[in-house]
Amino acid sequence: LQKPKPIVIANWKLNGGIDLICTSVASFIGKHFDAQIAICPPYIYMRDMLTFLQHSEISIGSQNVSKFESGAYTGETSAQMLKQAGCKLCLIGHSERRAMFGESNLSCQIKVQTALNHGLLPVLCIGENLEERDANITKAVIFRQLSEGLHNINLEGKELCIAYEPVWAIGTGLSATPAMAQEIHQFIRRELAVLLGKETAGRIRLLYGGSVNKTNARELLAQADIDGLLVGGASLDPGHFLAICQLA
Ligand code: PEP
Repeated sequence: LQKPKPIVIANWKLNGGIDLICTSVASFIGKHFDAQIAICPPYIYMRDMLTFLQHSEISIGSQNVSKFESGAYTGETSAQMLKQAGCKLCLIGHSERRAMFGESNLSCQIKVQTALNHGLLPVLCIGENLEERDANITKAVIFRQLSEGLHNINLEGKELCIAYEPVWAIGTGLSATPAMAQEIHQFIRRELAVLLGKETAGRIRLLYGGSVNKTNARELLAQADIDGLLVGGASLDPGHFLAICQLA
């Protein structure tokens, strides 16, 4: 079976500024990539990046999206606004949003549907924390995140990505081994086939995230069920992120 086109996404989190935008743009403009590449900067920088990168192969994504369409929801940004601004994808349910901002599987489900409704590519982030891994409930946690997060989602003619990010691997320098990541990705693919059908599951790209760097990227991407990478810390160094993108 042929693998889908890989996707590499940078998550800048609450980092970056004009300097990082300038050095990133200088590194990426005019380059060709075999993979789809996206950068998710803080909202305030999206427009600048979209302007600078409009003739490049790089897409811009958001780190979050509102579950609401419009109205009295202070501090929120809607899927429609993101789409109209030129944004291509949005992260949903990143572990930091789950842990620190009360994001639940139910709110993720609403956000996935909202993103799809407005033509954004949702990247649903899932993964177990260290306690859950130690208690041997990793697969149960992931199954729940998938079944609740994708409940009643109709993907006919639409695209979706799932990012598996073990929480213990995020920002710790402790990446899952390629074999560990592949085991969970294969599990995710099988569960997606049960939830959404085999054909749909086959075309959903599964990304690995958690301390990805230019040294471990190639072997992770070589795994049968790893179709892309979500990169946090290493994406804040444009040269380093470029090297990862060129490996994909
Ligand atoms: C992330 O936060 O999505 C992430 C993968 O971070 P890091 O690469 O720094 O572990």
